[in-house]
Amino acid sequence: MTILLSRVRDAGLQDIAEKLDAGERLSFDDGVRLFACSDPLALGALANREREKRHGARTYYNFNIRLEATNVCMASCLFCSFARLRPGDPGSYTMSLEQVWDKLRQRAGQSLTEIHVVNGLHPELPFEYYTDMLRGLKRIRPDVHLKCFTAVEIAFFADLYGKSDEQVLRELQEAGLDSLPGGGAEIFAERVRRKICDDKCGADRYLSIHRLAHRLGMRTNVTMLYGHIETHEERIDHMLRARALQDDTGGLQAFIPLAFHPDNNQMRKLPAPSAIETLRVHAVSRLMLDNVPHIKAFWIATGVETAQLALWFGADDLDGTVQEENIYHMAGSKTPEGMTTRAIRRLIRRAGREPYERDTLYNIIVGPDEDLTDTPLPPSERAPRASHANGARRRSGVRESA
Ligand code: SF4
Repeated sequence: MTILLSRVRDAGLQDIAEKLDAGERLSFDDGVRLFACSDPLALGALANREREKRHGARTYYNFNIRLEATNVCMASCLFCSFARLRPGDPGSYTMSLEQVWDKLRQRAGQSLTEIHVVNGLHPELPFEYYTDMLRGLKRIRPDVHLKCFTAVEIAFFADLYGKSDEQVLRELQEAGLDSLPGGGAEIFAERVRRKICDDKCGADRYLSIHRLAHRLGMRTNVTMLYGHIETHEERIDHMLRARALQDDTGGLQAFIPLAFHPDNNQMRKLPAPSAIETLRVHAVSRLMLDNVPHIKAFWIATGVETAQLALWFGADDLDGTVQEENIYHMAGSKTPEGMTTRAIRRLIRRAGREPYERDTLYNIIVGPDEDLTDTPLPPSERAPRASHANGARRRSGVRESA
């Protein structure tokens, strides 16, 4: 540690280290300096200190599944490889409610604790599709936490069905919604949003929906899509807006940096962020977001090995088993589509950390010393899924699926 702290000095970050020691909050300018630091190990040493102050060697994961019930979406975010514009377009799909519920029924014997549902912004489904979906999922597994619908989806529902954001949240909550995922945040800065996701809800509304959800007793996460056209200043601005929300409500559980993936979308000429950049973003997130308990390295987006390294660069959470992910895999992610709990525990141990299985609210389900039986995927999900490779085109023909 002494060697690393001497690197902190040599990297010109001593004053920031002293601020952190004194429990002082880092400023916008501090954040920009952290991104400009040329020594990633010095930055990592600072972030790791903050990580270990909060969590020691603990590394969290959960036993969850992902479900994307439709990829039909009226928006056309430039970085998205998942969406199709209209129902019936090549590569588009919309599950029936029975198909959605079957995903859970197939896992009747499994001890999963969370379903994470996000969708495209489908213009033709009735609101009852979503409320019935939640009610059905709760009927099948009342014990499973429903983390569903990004703030962007909530805003879309409100506009489409003529309701207020609060009314939408209340009605979904009444149907079984337990918390909101963090997707849709991208980068809050107006300059970037106008260029990459102009036709979905803006930063202020995203944050106000999270604020409303917190007031209604729900917990939420915030993501940040990095590694495309955003500047360091815009990343720090994004983090500080999340930090300000957390100062007001305390309702955020985790901040989740999401690596931009360039395959099969309209930003495919840009390179993906490097592993070093990914580690840097996780480290700066830990240092700037002093009031958010968890920094998540979403292994699907970072790659497994980089996620392991990120556990020494500020991250304390790996998300979960996931088991069925489309959005990142359609954008070129080479990671597995899911992992067993045993595999996640193994990779945490191999990174020199202690695995703790948690539920969505970070209650501990399985400690580091307990042995787990494996959790294989159901047979229906082991076959390669052809829908990822159908060459479908959308809108202007610029964007193709994988
Ligand atoms: S990122 Fe979300 S809102 Fe944007 S096009 Fe893709 S599915 Fe639609």
